[in-house]
Amino acid sequence: MKTDVFISGGGIGGLTLALKLAKCNIDVTVIERLPGPTPVYKGELLQPKSLGIFDDLGLLDEVKANGHVIDELNLVEIDKNSGTADESNMKYNVVPSKYSYSLMIHHEKLKEIIRDAAMEFPSFHYKSNSSCKGFSDGKAVVEDRKEKKEELYESSFFIGAEGRVSVTRQEMGIEKEENEYNHHFLTVTFPRPPSFTEGKIISTFDRFLGLFPLPNNEVRSVYLIPAGEYKEIRKKPIEYFHDLYIELCPEMDGYVNQIDSWKTIQLMVPVAYHTDHYIKDNKALIGDAVHTVHPMAGEGMNMAIQDGDVLGELLCDMFAKDKLNEENLKWFPHVRRERVKNQMKLSHLSALAYSYPYKSVGKLRKRSLKRIEQDPVLHFKQMLNISGLGMWQDTVKDRMIQGGLLPKRSTPLTTEEKAEKLFTEREDYPWKWKEQLV
Ligand SMILES: Cc1cc2nc3c(=O)[nH]c(=O)nc-3n(C[C@H](O)[C@H](O)[C@H](O)COP(=O)(O)OP(=O)(O)OC[C@H]3O[C@@H](n4cnc5c(N)ncnc54)[C@H](O)[C@@H]3O)c2cc1C
Repeated sequence: MKTDVFISGGGIGGLTLALKLAKCNIDVTVIERLPGPTPVYKGELLQPKSLGIFDDLGLLDEVKANGHVIDELNLVEIDKNSGTADESNMKYNVVPSKYSYSLMIHHEKLKEIIRDAAMEFPSFHYKSNSSCKGFSDGKAVVEDRKEKKEELYESSFFIGAEGRVSVTRQEMGIEKEENEYNHHFLTVTFPRPPSFTEGKIISTFDRFLGLFPLPNNEVRSVYLIPAGEYKEIRKKPIEYFHDLYIELCPEMDGYVNQIDSWKTIQLMVPVAYHTDHYIKDNKALIGDAVHTVHPMAGEGMNMAIQDGDVLGELLCDMFAKDKLNEENLKWFPHVRRERVKNQMKLSHLSALAYSYPYKSVGKLRKRSLKRIEQDPVLHFKQMLNISGLGMWQDTVKDRMIQGGLLPKRSTPLTTEEKAEKLFTEREDYPWKWKEQLV
């Protein structure tokens, strides 16, 4: 078999890349191991940059019709002794953009929307229930899992989009060093009250519950547990789980109780890594195959989409200009590596803020979140970095303001000052300028 671009893995990253390529009339083949939709929970929060990418792909209306818009994240810190709750609100609209909101959508629904759009193009080929087993003489070995037969694929470029366990990464000889955390999460989706419409994180000094509304009056939840305690917790009656949620969020009474067994509640183990290389010869890695983040900042799925966008644009230009030199692939990590590093740092710091069950850490967190909310520069930086629309690192002064060592700033940033921090097309796709492709 022959194809121009071979993609191993039809997850969110592989499909975004494939749709971009199909729209450029590039012959693209996606090999997906699963036979169909899976009930395993994965990322569901689309950040503003990803919404812009789907807008460019002509899918935003459909994505919005199947999603739930989130304008702000409410971070509530409860003091168990006094029974008081402090709330800090992080608003997406502090970032001046057409996409100043995020959106929750079922992971499999989003994949279906992208795949169906790609199916409209004759140059898109999708093979499910088939697995890329590795490589032989520069060709990909694909096993049809139903027929139990193997086929070889020749291609100009091979993309590893298989998620954490990547045969393409193995073939490229790229190692990953995993960072684990002292906690895991229980995660489950269940019905929500219709009035519960914004993202909410509720914490005490030793507990954490994240609630993110989905469409059709559902909510995806994550509850932090110490690493290694899952088996013991599961032995308790399901009412124990209901109580954990209701104690932190009484609004969920009558809703979380609709979960009638532990079977639908899944364990999520956060892991972080960032490999040293994204490309080798005519191969490239995208999404979880090359980097994985702690889910706290809701970036994992977005990083895969944003990889797919940049690599897709690059390959489209390479094919359009007939400049298929593998050297050109270097532009992909050139754009993505620093952005990924920034989002990994953000996710890691957010994870650390909730990792230690000490009262002093809880107090520090409460003050720090209030400061981010109230200081206009900190608030903008936080939401800009989360959104993926731009990147602006914290300075020592920022940290001191956040820690309460310096007073908050009172002068807000102007729209022009903020707009300067947004990524430009030139920063997203720098090779397009000055004929950079060889
Ligand atoms: C269990 C779990 C829960 C998560 N929960 C969250 C969350 O709550 N919030 C969040 O932001 N992020 C979460 N993430 C992360 C987020 O979902 C991922 O970052 C995102 O899905 C990455 O997309 P991807 O396309 O790179 O990889 P994946 O989504 O993993 O897709 C890879 C695809 O490749 C296929 N595949 C694998 N090997 C082969 C092969 N050899 N041949 C053919 N196909 C293959 C797989 O079946 C899969 O469909 C979670 C991830 C996991 C694994």
